[in-house]
Amino acid sequence: MSRTPYIAGNWKMHLTKRKASSLARDVAEFQGENPACKVAVFPTFLHLDYVRRNLKGSNVILGAQNCYGKKEGAYTGEISPYMLRDMGVKVVLIGHSERRHIFGETDTMMSDKVKITLRAKLDVMLCVGETLEERESGKTFAVLARQLRALKVVKTSQAERVSVAYEPVWAIGTGKTATPAMAQEAHAECRRLLGDILGAQAAATIPILYGGSVKAGNAAELLSQTDVDGALVGGASLSIHDFGPIIDAATA
Ligand code: PEP
Repeated sequence: MSRTPYIAGNWKMHLTKRKASSLARDVAEFQGENPACKVAVFPTFLHLDYVRRNLKGSNVILGAQNCYGKKEGAYTGEISPYMLRDMGVKVVLIGHSERRHIFGETDTMMSDKVKITLRAKLDVMLCVGETLEERESGKTFAVLARQLRALKVVKTSQAERVSVAYEPVWAIGTGKTATPAMAQEAHAECRRLLGDILGAQAAATIPILYGGSVKAGNAAELLSQTDVDGALVGGASLSIHDFGPIIDAATA
């Protein structure tokens, strides 16, 4: 089963409105030359509208880095997926390790976010991955199984709007990357677990992206693995000089 390569840039808490707008134009132009690759960018909430305007006319997908697991209400400081849809957002990143580990977000919260985001007719990119301690104590697969359980709320008709990003926590922003074999092993396990949760058809079609210090120099080898369908890129997504070659590697 061939899956469309998917490259996503997580801009985290970086850039100004001017720089985010300019980077959006660069990504739009680059993607135009690589139409075979699905490309998404995740700016801060504050920059969404600037980025949306600068992506206009392109196929680059506008994503948000987070959302709250409720439609509306007295939740000061939070943002609902319905508000994100209203702003032109198409996909929401859920469960990024920085949300889990810095902000203490739980698996129950992830499951609420998945449910409401899909109900708001947006796509979900669920991030999963083990810490170094969990890997070293042989718990990687158990962590993946626990975190992927957030997808139990997905209905069969919604599965085509789901993607998964496997991001070993120890590889995010550290310069340490999983070896291609380590990535493949974890991706294959994620796909097997997706089969248990959502069925064989969904497991075969859901894109699983790798994230963790992906750069121009290591992208091709990671992306050549059978179950690695794309990359979620942090640091190297902040300039087209670094991000462009990763898009190229996905379509080579
Ligand atoms: C990320 O933020 O999801 C990420 C993988 O970051 P980096 O590429 O900088 O490791």
